Amino acid sequence: MKILTLADQEIDSLYSPALQLYAGGVECVLACGDLPIDYLEYILTVLGRPLYYVHGNHAQSRVDRATGSLSENIEGAVNIHGKYVNQRGLLIAGLEGCLRYRSGNHQYTDEEMSYKATLLAVRLLRNRVRYGRALDILITHAPPYGIHDQDTNTHRGFRAYLPFMRFVKPRYLVHGHTHIYRNDLPRRTMYHETQVINTYGYQILELELPGEAKTEADASAGPRS
Ligand SMILES: [Zn+2]
Repeated sequence: MKILTLADQEIDSLYSPALQLYAGGVECVLACGDLPIDYLEYILTVLGRPLYYVHGNHAQSRVDRATGSLSENIEGAVNIHGKYVNQRGLLIAGLEGCLRYRSGNHQYTDEEMSYKATLLAVRLLRNRVRYGRALDILITHAPPYGIHDQDTNTHRGFRAYLPFMRFVKPRYLVHGHTHIYRNDLPRRTMYHETQVINTYGYQILELELPGEAKTEADASAGPRS
């Protein structure tokens, strides 16, 4: 199973007819924030695959044609901040935003994010009984504290993500927010059982589903003859 993950920077080759060459056949698209709405809607439309996202601290807004008010929604995509989805057996959850450094939306103190991460972790616990694991992928905008982050107010990671990873044990935490300007900066770092990936620009994840994973429809359909 291939998954396209995105954050922070528009990639010209994806925002073009060549998108199918790079990302054709992906199971879904995961967007980790700070990307233009039009860019994400182009990718969603051309690939025709589900797009799940969280907002970053530089979320765009535009006038919604239906309501006439400003909206940050990406049409046809699903905002999974504080929620999880089951994408054909793949368990994906999201937490938006970054550490608060000024007034504005989608910014939280460590305590606020700790509360949100704990609520999400508790909701994911029942997946251990049902699927044998709580979560496959957590998408976030900000990185965890001490991993791919920077020692500045704007780019310091959330401490709350560290106990979340130790407790929930997702296979991946995919984030954006910290830009990669040099090739020697790490993109992938293991933390306990979780691979932390900075998807600045884009990355393609290739993973196999655990054998016991079933979609909710499969689980209720019973054995096939
Ligand atoms: Zn950001």
